[in-house]
Amino acid sequence: MADRADLVVIGAGTIGGWASVFAAEDGVGRVVVLERGLAGMGASSRAAGVVRAQGGTPETVALGRWSIDFYERQAATYGTDSGFRELGYLILAVTEDDERAGHERVAMQQGAGLTDVRWLTADEAAALVGTLAPAGHRGGSYRDGDGHIDPPRNVRAYSLAMQAAHVELRERTAGIRPRCALQSGQRAVRIQRPAARGRLDADRDRSRCDQRRHRARVVHQLRDRPDLRRRLRLKAPGAAFPARFMPRFRRPALSGTK
Ligand SMILES: Cc1cc2nc3c(=O)[nH]c(=O)nc-3n(C[C@H](O)[C@H](O)[C@H](O)COP(=O)(O)OP(=O)(O)OC[C@H]3O[C@@H](n4cnc5c(N)ncnc54)[C@H](O)[C@@H]3O)c2cc1C
Repeated sequence: MADRADLVVIGAGTIGGWASVFAAEDGVGRVVVLERGLAGMGASSRAAGVVRAQGGTPETVALGRWSIDFYERQAATYGTDSGFRELGYLILAVTEDDERAGHERVAMQQGAGLTDVRWLTADEAAALVGTLAPAGHRGGSYRDGDGHIDPPRNVRAYSLAMQAAHVELRERTAGIRPRCALQSGQRAVRIQRPAARGRLDADRDRSRCDQRRHRARVVHQLRDRPDLRRRLRLKAPGAAFPARFMPRFRRPALSGTK
């Protein structure tokens, strides 16, 4: 029995859950999330939930700021939230190297637009955090706006948002085998579930298809080197993708993605 979706997401953790909501909001069409267990039973319900904009690179600073802004908008957008609370976050420096790296990190973060991150001396840090001794460290970087979510509440929030966005969640889908089809720049994935002998076709895959595409490129580049292909266990050109894995249809790219 064959079924068809516009986007299939594998895994109903916080990444797959929220990604499926954003895709549905972008008007992708029919979005199906396949979860081998129950939604949120992976790392997403077990995490500590720390969310901070004090990242180590400009990209992670931007991602942290986006995340905090997202968590703060959730109640208005979805009528529920992940329990984000601004508690402040202190990254302590213990050694001289930590301190030097910490000052460099703060300068980088401020350059990336995080203007409210600041360096606290050891005394200032101890005054701020009642349970912290003033000795044994060199102070650290601090930002009021960082904090944490409540991971189980976040699972609840994206589950509700998925329902509201008409994302279809299928749980206990053990035995999923994604198979890709590539032809003339198209991307497709076929999900096979041997136990149920079911099949779900979609036109987009963000990981396996890229791997296959890369593999196909390598096979092509090594077309005159059967010795190397043998060593790398790569099939001969033309044999890499069985004809039966063909894309069924094409859709425009997800907005904001390639
Ligand atoms: C102890 C701990 C503390 C953490 N603390 C923090 C923190 O303070 N701050 C922070 O930002 N991050 C923290 N993390 C990391 C954070 O939890 C993860 O980065 C995040 O939850 C990853 O989300 P995910 O959706 O990618 O993975 P998961 O939540 O693990 O979800 C993946 C899902 O995919 C399913 N799945 C996998 N393979 C298949 C398949 N073939 N078919 C169907 N379903 C499949 C799994 O069953 C699972 O439900 C912590 C992690 C742990 C373990």
